[in-house]
Amino acid sequence: MGERVILKTPDQIAKMREAGRIVAQALDMIGRMVAPGVTTKALDSAVEELIIKAGGIPLFKEYPAANPRYPAFPASICASVNEQVVHGIPSERELRDGDIISVDIGVKLDGWCGDAARTYAIGTVGRKVKKLLEVTESSLMRAIENVRPGKKLRDVSSAVQKEVESNGFSVVKQFVGHGIGLDMHEAPQIPNYVCSPRERLDGYFPDLTLQTGMVLAIEPMVNIGRSEVLVDKKDGWTVYTKDRTMSAHFEHSVAVGPDGPVILTEL
Ligand code: MG
Repeated sequence: MGERVILKTPDQIAKMREAGRIVAQALDMIGRMVAPGVTTKALDSAVEELIIKAGGIPLFKEYPAANPRYPAFPASICASVNEQVVHGIPSERELRDGDIISVDIGVKLDGWCGDAARTYAIGTVGRKVKKLLEVTESSLMRAIENVRPGKKLRDVSSAVQKEVESNGFSVVKQFVGHGIGLDMHEAPQIPNYVCSPRERLDGYFPDLTLQTGMVLAIEPMVNIGRSEVLVDKKDGWTVYTKDRTMSAHFEHSVAVGPDGPVILTEL
């Protein structure tokens, strides 16, 4: 990840908006599809078809693993069920009543990227799980309110953390949001908590002042239980909660506009 935060022109942001629109269409379609008995692979196939028909490229497919011992990501969506946090690999697994599934989708269109995620409840879920989904989404929206010129990057991180922790849940610290543009992952890193000065997360600039033209992919990952997560040693991708409690994930790509946030990954 480069150290420099790359500013985008209004024309470039307009292109990112088009990529983001496809992501939103795909996430809406997932919302209509999820039901008991549906496999995560079926969701992946449908999204891949939608992206390609729209003239886009699925960004996650063949994305190289952080650890080169593992194969590249094999699918167009990340499908993470229940205690899986992010980066779940679509499979023949059937969704069941009471499950939750986090779906993350990235699209490149005319060279520009869009990235967003939502968590869906399958059938009837418990009260606490319902609350988890509500709080994770509201923490994202609180963060987005801070995406305006003159605010600090730490205001964005802090907004997520406050909303989550005041509701008794915990934020995942090992995975973070990111700048986005011609590349899916650009500077800066956007943690969902305020780092202590000693943590020095590489590429996180808490004092960075937001400026018009920055584009941020903000993505709270929130656990019912403790914040620790592990990566599956067999597939090298699936991230799950160490205490096996459920986890939710909401994400938008958001531009800093002159008058405030512009959400790019909506219809
Ligand atoms: Mg992302």
